[in-house]
Amino acid sequence: MAATSRASEEAPIAALATAPGPAGIAIVRLSGAGALAVAARIARRPSGRALAAASGGRCLARIVHPASGVRLDDAMVLVFRAPHSYTGEELVELQGHGGRLPARRLLDAVLAAGARLAAPGEFTRRAFLNGRLDLTQAEAVMDLIQARTDRAAQAAAAQLDGALGQRITPLADTLLDLCADLEARLDFEPGELPAELPTDLAATLATVTTGLRALLATWHEGHLLREGALVVISGRPNAGKSSLLNALLGRPRAIVAATPGTTRDSIEESIDLQGIPLRLVDTAGLGDPACAIEAEGVARAGVLMRRADINLHLIDASQPLDDATLAPLAALDPARTLLVLSKGDLPCRLDVEPLAGWRTLTVAAPRGDGLETLRAALADRLGSAAAAPAGADIAARHREELLTAEAQTAAARDLLQMAPPDLVLAAGALRAAATALGRITGRCYSEELLDRIFSRFCVGK
Ligand code: GDP
Repeated sequence: MAATSRASEEAPIAALATAPGPAGIAIVRLSGAGALAVAARIARRPSGRALAAASGGRCLARIVHPASGVRLDDAMVLVFRAPHSYTGEELVELQGHGGRLPARRLLDAVLAAGARLAAPGEFTRRAFLNGRLDLTQAEAVMDLIQARTDRAAQAAAAQLDGALGQRITPLADTLLDLCADLEARLDFEPGELPAELPTDLAATLATVTTGLRALLATWHEGHLLREGALVVISGRPNAGKSSLLNALLGRPRAIVAATPGTTRDSIEESIDLQGIPLRLVDTAGLGDPACAIEAEGVARAGVLMRRADINLHLIDASQPLDDATLAPLAALDPARTLLVLSKGDLPCRLDVEPLAGWRTLTVAAPRGDGLETLRAALADRLGSAAAAPAGADIAARHREELLTAEAQTAAARDLLQMAPPDLVLAAGALRAAATALGRITGRCYSEELLDRIFSRFCVGK
């Protein structure tokens, strides 16, 4: 039993690396010691020569089931020798014909030949454990796969090159050097301490803090590029919300009707605003609900308005401003709201005085009037993300660790400024700061951290 379970633990891993469904080719990837032997059990070269001798690491082969010998497909076999592969291990890619069934049969044959199905992200996890990439690069792989705009893809690609790790590692090294310096002084007997603490210590800590803060400042852009900005379209029934959603999308997605209450639940769509992915949500009109369904729609609209990065709150400019129209403004934050005065093509009957203090824009969505100004105002409110060069943008996990590192560095600075300085605690704080940074790049990691990161991955990556 023990031998069997150890053998299966050591079996190479395999998974479909391409999306299932109709496609030109389907790729099954195999990684780990013995990957080539597994592939050789199902792949026959027309020349009869061994797979291992595949010239240039690739050859065309006939694929057969290892048990029945039934011919399944023809496939291109690519052989990557350790450590020159994505995972750093022996790796084989079988490129067969696409389509749900051929791909599944190819994978089944590989599993029957002795591989085991890979867990989500296991190829990239192995690449990390074999030193092929750091944790920020591994995370960038997933960011790139999930990128929704060119700009998000560009930011992920920069991180794939290790941009974030290259900014973090020198900071961690500086903290560790300082820590080692303090710990060396602790080895001396009291009274034997070498001269004063280095004079540039405070300046070095200040430089580290500046570096940490510069990285923390990329959080907003990183968050917008990864998650997308939540832009909620709200307003009274018939204000023109669905018309605005459709105009921004450039296609009729929501039903536009003269009858109030047509949109009873929210409708979400994605658009690209100067490279920032927007999650654009049209909500149910904020009015007196006529039934339980409408009441639920209004409640959901309220929740979305509170969570929004930006609220586009519509007010029908062709109607006088009444209390029912003004009431929802109480729940809105002016810093996160653009008041959109709709139906700008009709005679204006709106008294704009009560709206002083709010950023207002006029649109006539079905005609496209005012939409460019609205897009520019949205980009402006979302910050400089659209203008800044894509670089090392941090994600939520990195932010947590950077905040820890910043707090520990500040604590070390305070401890060193005491008279006499507390070297023991200061060294501990510096080490904690460096460890937090190490968890970002993967210099310090636990299985639990890896599980958390790689469970987001798809099988086959
Ligand atoms: P919603 O209930 O807030 O989603 O509003 P709709 O987008 O469904 O629009 C309600 C009515 O107002 C429809 O009859 C639209 O054709 C009309 N409407 C929307 N925007 C404009 C506009 O800019 N100008 C004019 N004249 N009518 C508009």
